[in-house]
Amino acid sequence: MDAEIHRLPMGICNCYLIKENSVILVDAGPPKQVGKLRTALQKLSIEPQDISLMLITHGHYDHIGSVSEVKTLTDCKVAINHREKEWVEQALHPLPPGIGIWGAVMAVLMRITAPFVQFPASSVDIALEDTELPLHPFGVNGKVLYTPGHSSGSTSLLLDTGEAFVGDLAMGGFPTRIGPGMPIFGDDRNAIKTSWKLLLDSGAKWIYPSHGNPFSADILRKAL
Ligand SMILES: [Zn+2]
Repeated sequence: MDAEIHRLPMGICNCYLIKENSVILVDAGPPKQVGKLRTALQKLSIEPQDISLMLITHGHYDHIGSVSEVKTLTDCKVAINHREKEWVEQALHPLPPGIGIWGAVMAVLMRITAPFVQFPASSVDIALEDTELPLHPFGVNGKVLYTPGHSSGSTSLLLDTGEAFVGDLAMGGFPTRIGPGMPIFGDDRNAIKTSWKLLLDSGAKWIYPSHGNPFSADILRKAL
């Protein structure tokens, strides 16, 4: 039986619950979102303790703001790439550069609002290396791939069935972009495309972004 995928809108960020033999949560959302997770788990009849792992795709505040509360609720392990481990442990929120005109405008807005963003720090259990991490030990048939570009520590979760949870390596559409493709923020456009290629070569068929709707991986293939 294939994994169940549940999209979980947490503020401006989509988190995802992947349920197979166990449950993995992808990202924790912006600050103060744990109530939404609690409600979703109740509706799905999933016990908080059934979550074995919280994979944080990268350390931007809208993905790590609720890590501490979610960890308290679920007692799950928290994994993030080693480059961005401190962002969670020290509740840092570095701002990414904009890509394109809209990205530049949004980057200015983020700089203005940044001082008001605060969230609790959390411990990290697994500092991911830049190698693949198989997820079978966490009850899901898939793996974590190192996919830098949006940030230097960005990772993606790829299920064996081809669904890829990419964080902000690609964005799905309004309000962050008109259509799916290049994120409006990012450290390195070329690295983003190299990571898209890695995902495609590894069997990604369907892209689940943190912002916007899921879309076919063919869209990334055409934009390479
Ligand atoms: Zn981001």
